[in-house]
Amino acid sequence: MTDQPGAARRLDGAAVAAAIREELKPAVAAFASKAGRPPGLALVLVGDDPASAIYVRSKETSAADSGIAVRAHRLPSTTPLADVLALVERLNADGSVDGILVQDPLPAAMGTGASTRVFDAIAPGKDVDGFHPENAGRLAQGRVTLAPCTPAGVIELLRRSDIRMRGAEAVVIGRSDIVGKPMAMLLLSEDATVTICHSRTADLAAHARRADILVAAVGRPAFVIPDMVKPGATVIDVGINRVTERARIEEWFGSGSARLAGFDQRGSAVVGDVHPAVAQVAGALTPVPGGVGPLTIAMLLRNTLRAAELRRQRGSNS
Ligand code: NAD
Repeated sequence: MTDQPGAARRLDGAAVAAAIREELKPAVAAFASKAGRPPGLALVLVGDDPASAIYVRSKETSAADSGIAVRAHRLPSTTPLADVLALVERLNADGSVDGILVQDPLPAAMGTGASTRVFDAIAPGKDVDGFHPENAGRLAQGRVTLAPCTPAGVIELLRRSDIRMRGAEAVVIGRSDIVGKPMAMLLLSEDATVTICHSRTADLAAHARRADILVAAVGRPAFVIPDMVKPGATVIDVGINRVTERARIEEWFGSGSARLAGFDQRGSAVVGDVHPAVAQVAGALTPVPGGVGPLTIAMLLRNTLRAAELRRQRGSNS
């Protein structure tokens, strides 16, 4: 969350992401001159979820700004699953496409399991989201090629902020396949001692209080309160929660806060999983917005370049 009155160092994900994107530009240009074409990224958006539309637009402009040839395929919410799978097959076979990203969630009408079927259909070498079981398996075995973007971004932020992971107690709250589990695997690869907490964990606060590095990927606003945080710990707030109740924003940020003023203008506010008062206890903390979110996009661009380079090395179309 943004208003951080406490002493915690603010980990500026937006600045780190901007630096990574600048570093990528010459690397993307170098690939283009070697390969005779830029790296190619295909984005697929099905339906009209407003948040998804914003994410896809933002990925599109960031990719184009980095020199990546990006194309967004926008499909109506009534598109049958078979048509989405057929599009993925076409993109798998398209030699100019190095990365394929299908924006989650797919429309509910497609049925449960639709996302899994679509993610599984993406060629592992073009799976720039890192969600394919082959890439998840490689991650689990420490042979990662394309890691999921959000947790990879967290690792990059920790590295560039000089936060020691080796030997650290790391606690991840959340066990989703796209954030919690890969986050735990990446922290393990960095030699942290990792605990994963979830909705059935007994005495979650006791686990969380042991953490030198606490990652919240729960999807519940202000879930992590000061009592769950060891003094001086690094707290990474992955949560993105849109709150529409004014009273909650006032309770968390205070009556004269910039956040409340922003809420009054827009009628909603985006907040993380970490209560603002955690800034009084933590040693370092990521804001929401401006923390993990921008890194997710920077890692998508890095994965696209990596996928392009690996495909070129293999001389393969998929
Ligand atoms: P998810 O709903 O798939 O998973 C949430 C996890 O939290 C589950 O594993 C569940 O066990 C755990 N959980 C839920 N309630 C709990 C409770 N009361 N106690 C303990 N654990 C509990 O969500 P996700 O896709 O992993 O995303 C998590 C959050 O991160 C969301 O707010 C999402 O919007 C955000 N997110 C941000 C980015 C980014 O770029 N910053 C990317 C992806 C997701």
